[in-house]
Amino acid sequence: MHKKLFIPGPTEVREDVLKKLSTPQIGHRSAEFQQLYSSIVEKLKKVLYTDNTIILSTSSGTGLMELATRNFIEKRALGTICGAFSDRWAKIAKANGKQIDSIEVEWGKHIPTEDIEKELSTGKYDCLLYTHNETSTGVRNPIEELAEVMKKFPDVIWCVDAVSSMGGDLLKLDELGVDFICTSTQKAFALPSGLAIGVLTDKAIQKSEQVPDKGYYFSVKTFMKYSERNQTPTTPAIPHLFALDYQLDRILDEGMENRYERHKQMAEFVRAWARQNFDLFPEPGYESVTLTTIANTRAISVADLNKQLAGRNKTISNGYGNLKEKTFRIAHMGDMTLDDIKELLNDIEEILQL
Ligand SMILES: *Cc1c(COP(=O)(O)O)cnc(C)c1O
Repeated sequence: MHKKLFIPGPTEVREDVLKKLSTPQIGHRSAEFQQLYSSIVEKLKKVLYTDNTIILSTSSGTGLMELATRNFIEKRALGTICGAFSDRWAKIAKANGKQIDSIEVEWGKHIPTEDIEKELSTGKYDCLLYTHNETSTGVRNPIEELAEVMKKFPDVIWCVDAVSSMGGDLLKLDELGVDFICTSTQKAFALPSGLAIGVLTDKAIQKSEQVPDKGYYFSVKTFMKYSERNQTPTTPAIPHLFALDYQLDRILDEGMENRYERHKQMAEFVRAWARQNFDLFPEPGYESVTLTTIANTRAISVADLNKQLAGRNKTISNGYGNLKEKTFRIAHMGDMTLDDIKELLNDIEEILQL
């Protein structure tokens, strides 16, 4: 029996979307493919409020995090660590032989914008790595506030990991002025895993031309050569492209602003429930709209709760890494509805006899 996924990726995929994955295949150098590709790009631009360049990568989101480190760091990067995924990005930079220093805050806290401003003012850095929504802690960093500050640093390439927020949270990219941002399809876009989406400005593209040793698979130069022809450099996950094209129609039909409102409603509902029955893990004012990390103040066994939820065909996430059993996470992203969330919380109340 399928368990409904209330976990922060992979998320629940609708039946009609799943069916699109079995569309008969087409050649990736055919005119039909070019049409499919340009259809996806045009729709993504609407969903993300951008005129910048879109790239579609057959990899998970981590691939595009690696792309950022290989293409945009020439001198030295500034990392911003507030949990497991932001920590991973700094590690990726090092693994690619790049120089990086990081601002690091306690898990559950956000990255203070003034700390970034102070560090960038030293002039030591040409790239900033910033995690919009830290999935391990449920913290949403204040990207709108940072957008104002980044205007003062036109020589810094601002890279954002929006893997667990893009497509759920509202990201008006051109207004924000982000130079590079990436996601993978298995989170708020509610598709299966296997494809990643990146958006980059001309400034980021120009920067990458200057940076040596970009490799091949994740070289912006390779992507650019093919994206101009509405193609991908190598054979992409064509099933995902059919499903993405279809899902983007659904997202545009709902309207991105409405989709965001739905996410906010679900988040507010889960937060109110969590405050009443447990507590919230993130510091107040910085809670994610796509997932809620709940502090396990009742010391319940999260593993047991999940076992019982499995009997009701549902699953939630335990805490990440060291936060296992100390916290648990409920994702409310993608195509989930408030009714789904109410049913889940009702089940949890019955199981725990709250
Ligand atoms: C899931 C996630 C990743 C990793 O994405 P993959 O597609 O598994 O590579 C990176 N960053 C954040 C914030 C995530 O939530």
